[in-house]
Amino acid sequence: MKKFLLAGPCFGVLAGCMSAADLSASDSASYASAADLQSFCSRLPRSAYADYQKHEASGDWFEVYEIEPGIWAIYEPFQWQEVISYLIVGSESAVLFDTGNGIGNIRSIVDQLTDRPVRVLNSHSHFDHIGGNYQFDEVLSVATEFSVSRSRGIKSDELLLEVSPEALCKNLPVGVTEENHETRPFSISGTIADGDVLDIGGRNLEVLQVPGHTDDAIALLDRDAGFLWSGDSFYEGPIWLFFPETDLVAYQKSVARLASLVPGLKAVFPAHNTPRADPALLTQLRENLDRVLAGNVVPVPVSDGNVEFRFEGFSLLMRENYYRLDAD
Ligand SMILES: [Zn+2]
Repeated sequence: MKKFLLAGPCFGVLAGCMSAADLSASDSASYASAADLQSFCSRLPRSAYADYQKHEASGDWFEVYEIEPGIWAIYEPFQWQEVISYLIVGSESAVLFDTGNGIGNIRSIVDQLTDRPVRVLNSHSHFDHIGGNYQFDEVLSVATEFSVSRSRGIKSDELLLEVSPEALCKNLPVGVTEENHETRPFSISGTIADGDVLDIGGRNLEVLQVPGHTDDAIALLDRDAGFLWSGDSFYEGPIWLFFPETDLVAYQKSVARLASLVPGLKAVFPAHNTPRADPALLTQLRENLDRVLAGNVVPVPVSDGNVEFRFEGFSLLMRENYYRLDAD
């Protein structure tokens, strides 16, 4: 039961992958039985995807949706992370923002969508965002110690849980097993930093370093279109802020920075659950995070010394006794 509660970066089938649009935050402690897993799976893909046409490039593992012209959400709806990678195609080149769990073959999906050169950037280096990096030659990273250590590959019990029956709503792709699943090593081919702009032809993507969730977290911003790719700094679900690599002081600053962009934003594209979120939620995140860190929100204990702070549309998961920062 415990492992259900602390299984992966978006809280597994428990709270982590639920958005208020589909499931209430009070569902967060209820997904512990096979029947509950079945019920969770029966609601995937989430209703938010009904707004889009599923693209024929979707394979057995991914579902692909063109959420804006030239912007593809590559969603993994059959695994409890419900992670979303984004392919952004310009007239000259393309950026792949995250490569998923490494369970399905994301390269074959990308190859169906574009023949332009593809650069991979990761929202951060947790395993559910870097799994397909090894399939690409060009991987740009802010290259913190954390990123570099993750680029060497990951093989752990935590990772194996991600391909166990309780994490899955369908069979694994042929050749992937609980025994052999791992995050394969990859090479970082170049570094990026805050303020760098990637011109892909007809679209400029600005890199924003937003440390907090991890020290290598980035967001991508298309200022002209008003689009922000938020990674795990924000998504509609319980946001995981209890890892040792999470820095709440840094996260608070980064959230304030993202929220300051709201007046110029038309849409936020998060890395889990739903492919398009209302930018106003970033303002809600900033306000509620500030209240939490000032000790002004009552936490709900969940498991393993973690607590959850629940709000409309998202929640925050933190270590108990850690969330309250000193005033000033
Ligand atoms: Zn993460």
